[in-house]
Amino acid sequence: MKVNRNFQNIADSYLFSTIARKVAEYGESHPGAPIIRLGIGDVTLPLAPAVIEAMQQALCEMSVQKSFKGYGPEQGYLFLKEAIHNYYGVRGIALKADEIFISDGAKSDLGNILDLFSVDNTVLVPDPVYPAYVDTNTMAGRKILFMDANEGNGFLPLPDASVKADVIYLCSPNNPTGAAYSRDGLKAWVDYALANDAVILFDAAYECFIEDPALPRSIFEIEGAERCAIEFCSFSKMAGFTGTRCGWTIVPLALEREGASLNKMWLRRQTTKFNGVPYIVQKGAAAVFSPEGMQQTQQNLSYYKENAKVLSDALDELGIWYTGGKNSPYLWLKCPDGMESWAFFDHLLENANLVGTPGAGFGKNGANFFRLTAFGDKAATREAVVRLKKLLG
Ligand code: PLP
Repeated sequence: MKVNRNFQNIADSYLFSTIARKVAEYGESHPGAPIIRLGIGDVTLPLAPAVIEAMQQALCEMSVQKSFKGYGPEQGYLFLKEAIHNYYGVRGIALKADEIFISDGAKSDLGNILDLFSVDNTVLVPDPVYPAYVDTNTMAGRKILFMDANEGNGFLPLPDASVKADVIYLCSPNNPTGAAYSRDGLKAWVDYALANDAVILFDAAYECFIEDPALPRSIFEIEGAERCAIEFCSFSKMAGFTGTRCGWTIVPLALEREGASLNKMWLRRQTTKFNGVPYIVQKGAAAVFSPEGMQQTQQNLSYYKENAKVLSDALDELGIWYTGGKNSPYLWLKCPDGMESWAFFDHLLENANLVGTPGAGFGKNGANFFRLTAFGDKAATREAVVRLKKLLG
């Protein structure tokens, strides 16, 4: 019996455990210190009332034999696919129901999709990056090339014609940098993918934070993307589903490689390895798109967006270089005085009792950068800004 030796090549993930240990140690030596956490990537507001009501109704249906549901369609119930179809339709993207696959969140499908690709493929990943892209490919033994995201390109790398990649990860708005691609930027990637027979895996988990109408919220806003891209999206950040679990994946019917339909392969993969998202959860997710659900969801998003504005205003005032904050819940700032990101972490914790996330945890290009998030409490975020200005002003 042999184990998958590729697991030995996965870097240990010390980022959040090290942060937790450092904060706990500081708390022990400074009891009662008013620590504010701006490192959190999870939502904090509860599910919208319309979602709760729909889930309660679905639960009642499950308690009556006539309306009870057992196994559902692996690809998701039509009522939720139709709601997602309309969500894209209002933006002029005409999806077919068969192109929409309901998932238990973007993370699972971002990893699962790799079943469709040969291990011989070369994968192109931005640095810094959401760590799951790298780890899932490393587990499978794929060759990974990194593209530099840095201050020079605004943390939005563009294709390099001399690099030959087969699978490309793009995340916009990005975690951790908060940077969001323009239409021209995404078009350059679509053109590259079409010219190189590559496939773009587009992570749109934060699209709901885009307010600027000039910025694309889906790769399918770009002509030709239906022949070279798969999109992953989620109710996690949009509607607070991080613990409830629901998302969706778009695999276009027009997407073919080596004469094979990736849509048909994905359908086969899902019906073989996945038994669908719970009916109750899908009912709750569909309620997000109801008029009340949308209004309540937007209210929660506005709360986070206001936090992002409070933080970005403070960085503007301090003259600190950053990306994100607008069209994103993340702010990615350059550590002052060339400080290394862990040193800046300690500096903030010890002198302002603030916790953020050191950029070094997301790749080598994050070594001198730091991530703050807008998912915290409003009053705490305002207090954090007062302390930031006092310390760095
Ligand atoms: N993609 C990115 C870029 C993320 O930051 C996250 C979660 O933080 C996910 C995907 C995972 O989302 P989900 O909760 O839908 O699995």
